[in-house]
Amino acid sequence: MTAISTTPLGWKLSAPAPLRRRGTRATARVLPRSARADAAIIDGKAIAETVREEVRAKVAAMKESTGKVPGLAVVLVGERKDSETYVRSKKKACAEAGIESFGTDLPGDATEDEVLAVVAAYNADPNVHGILVQLPMPDHIDEERVLGAIDYEKDVDGFHPLNIGRLSQRGREPLFVPCTPRGCIELLERSGIEIAGKEAVVVGRSNVVGTPAALLLQRRDATVTIVHSRTPNSEEIVRRADIVIAACGRMEMVKGSWIKPGAAVIDVGINAKDDPSKKRGYRLVGDVDYEECAKVAGHITPVPGGVGPMTIAILLQNTLEGAARAYGYEL
Ligand code: NAP
Repeated sequence: MTAISTTPLGWKLSAPAPLRRRGTRATARVLPRSARADAAIIDGKAIAETVREEVRAKVAAMKESTGKVPGLAVVLVGERKDSETYVRSKKKACAEAGIESFGTDLPGDATEDEVLAVVAAYNADPNVHGILVQLPMPDHIDEERVLGAIDYEKDVDGFHPLNIGRLSQRGREPLFVPCTPRGCIELLERSGIEIAGKEAVVVGRSNVVGTPAALLLQRRDATVTIVHSRTPNSEEIVRRADIVIAACGRMEMVKGSWIKPGAAVIDVGINAKDDPSKKRGYRLVGDVDYEECAKVAGHITPVPGGVGPMTIAILLQNTLEGAARAYGYEL
């Protein structure tokens, strides 16, 4: 997921040709209104770059005033090529932001105790402010046990039950919020989309995206509904929404007819769709039918170039905030 966010592919490069035509100002002017994409496109790539620049500047200021920098540790178990790419991207992003990165690569047959020992060592290391265990881990390792062993004060992914628990309680503050859902909220807020008092529908209820996204919207005073695979009338419920966050892992499931005119649509999905016109034989599409929804929505994120780039930017931000907390440094 994160690798996609940091691949050199901007959405304009890999978007399907008809979409590109619509997005081009010059041609948009000559197209009849009914055939144009009317939604404002939320440029996640540009917003993520702004966040990364902000983090870079704050890391530099922290270093100047305290002599210290944030540190992120990434633990990789096994030799999955995609995971190796994600980990490389995260380390590169850290270097660009001035964040020190630490890494431990364990073989695929490492025992759970070995993984736990690595996590414990990073928990004890004062130079490490964020620990991230790259998922998925090999089947013989209990993911819940490993994630639960990360010190919740270093839980940059925000998956620790204490952080999720606090996120769900009024008047409690989590130390970290999961990166992708926090990225969705940043996209809405930085695009000037009001959340308070609005009706929001989240499509999907995973621990990683859907549920924390719904909790974040609720904390910002939206009225939130979650739909999932057992919801019989998702379409009808989504049609009520001023804000839709789609994270169901079903390629282009959310259609234009599901969208209330003017709604803000945040598409978290990343799916490979066969496309013989592409050199690699596929292109990336979301959980939202972009072509259709862009004609109805007020704002929409493209795939790629929407939510994806935000995930890594927020990871850097979370690491910086963890370090600031540890050093008693005010950001
Ligand atoms: P997940 O763990 O597979 O969860 C999918 C959720 O969607 C589940 O709650 C499932 O319901 C629900 N769902 C499935 N079919 C549905 C349907 N027909 N109608 C309504 N809900 C349905 O996936 P995830 O990890 O949350 O990821 C969701 C998508 O976001 C994927 O495409 C993933 O690749 C992408 N993603 C992107 C990023 C990024 O950085 N951009 C990060 C994370 C994930 P049940 O609970 O009932 O099974």
